[in-house]
Amino acid sequence: MLRFAPSPTGDMHIGNLRVAIFNYIVARQTGKKLIVRIEDTDKERNIEGKDREILTILDLFGIKYDQVVYQSSNFHIHQQLAKQLLDSKKAFVCFCDEEELKLQKEKAKIEKRPYRYSGKCENLSKSEVEKLIVEKKPFVIRIKKPENNIKFIDEIKGEFDISPFEVDSFVILRGDLTPTYNFACAIDDMLYDITLVIRGEDHLSNTPKQIHIRNSLGYNKEIKYAHLPIILNVEGKKLSKRENHASVKWLLEEGFLPEAIANYLILLGNSFEKEVFTLEEAIKFFDLSKISKAPAKFDIEKLKFLNKEHMKKIENLSEYLGYNSRYEELLKIFRDESSTLKEIKEKFEKVFEKSVDEEFKDEREILKKEILENELEENYDDFKKRVMKNTSLKGKKLFMPLRELLINEKHGAEIKDLYNAMLPYLKEVIKSR
Ligand code: GLU
Repeated sequence: MLRFAPSPTGDMHIGNLRVAIFNYIVARQTGKKLIVRIEDTDKERNIEGKDREILTILDLFGIKYDQVVYQSSNFHIHQQLAKQLLDSKKAFVCFCDEEELKLQKEKAKIEKRPYRYSGKCENLSKSEVEKLIVEKKPFVIRIKKPENNIKFIDEIKGEFDISPFEVDSFVILRGDLTPTYNFACAIDDMLYDITLVIRGEDHLSNTPKQIHIRNSLGYNKEIKYAHLPIILNVEGKKLSKRENHASVKWLLEEGFLPEAIANYLILLGNSFEKEVFTLEEAIKFFDLSKISKAPAKFDIEKLKFLNKEHMKKIENLSEYLGYNSRYEELLKIFRDESSTLKEIKEKFEKVFEKSVDEEFKDEREILKKEILENELEENYDDFKKRVMKNTSLKGKKLFMPLRELLINEKHGAEIKDLYNAMLPYLKEVIKSR
């Protein structure tokens, strides 16, 4: 079983979508099931409705899953297993208060050493613990750090050997008895019999902790890991959530097709014989173990190129964009010179707006009159000849205002192509110009 485990705490980041796509591809390649696990353990950070938004995005991208589970519905199991760890002395009740821990962290910082839990509450006796609980002293539950190193092999990054000092005695249940991310995640991966975890490399440091939790519970079935290199922006810095193109929603609103975004995210950090493909095609040749270990750079220009390629494949553009089919040919012309659906739409909508350009106002009036008062020729060259003859306009003074009359732009596609595409409704457009 594989899983995609998003937190419903914000707009979906392209890094998360990439994780979802890779999980889906591997699930399909191996015939395994894929679950979506909404990691809603952090009540403060959860945002109402983000879970549904994530599922809608997955549907839009054609990422099929077998089941959706909410991590919060397993809280009782997380608590039960924390108790089991307490009973077996693999975890302990910790009464250290926030202030105390904060000071220790600051001290470690000043001394330029990594902060680690002091171990203060690790050896409290049963009666001391009971006394403090009766006194209503706030507490958390910590797991004891491992006795031996935690070793694991990452399918992309290779071998890891992590010391107990690095794993540390960390919190597994908060004061309100909700599980921390590491605890809930480690247990749920075990409960749902996950065999391979594909996730972002920002979670790499959590992996030994999660393995340690399961080891402490006596779970010895191996879970494989593949941590995907992070995505950087063009400047080579981590692509932050605040950067627009990091948000899947933003990319979709900008008119990038799901097919192109998926294509781009699969290509990122990979090299295949062909560059333009669909998600379904990628299932045939994608190889998780061949992903580059180096961070991948997000390049919007490349995404635009792929978007153009995928836009070409749309068979019925007017229907796709929600316009009358009479505009199909004109939309195709705009498609050839656009990188996104939004650009096509903007060009198209502009056709029906009033012209505001002062430069060729008079020429436009002359041409408008000439066009509206005469029958339109089927053949553009005949039309041009007649218009040139009757108006005496030529060169820039003919073509720029003429193009403006057609599409409200001085520069752009060949007038001949526009004329042919717009012939059935050309007069209507010009009348309202
Ligand atoms: N909920 C985590 C996130 O959205 C993912 C955790 C995981 O895949 O283990 O980053």
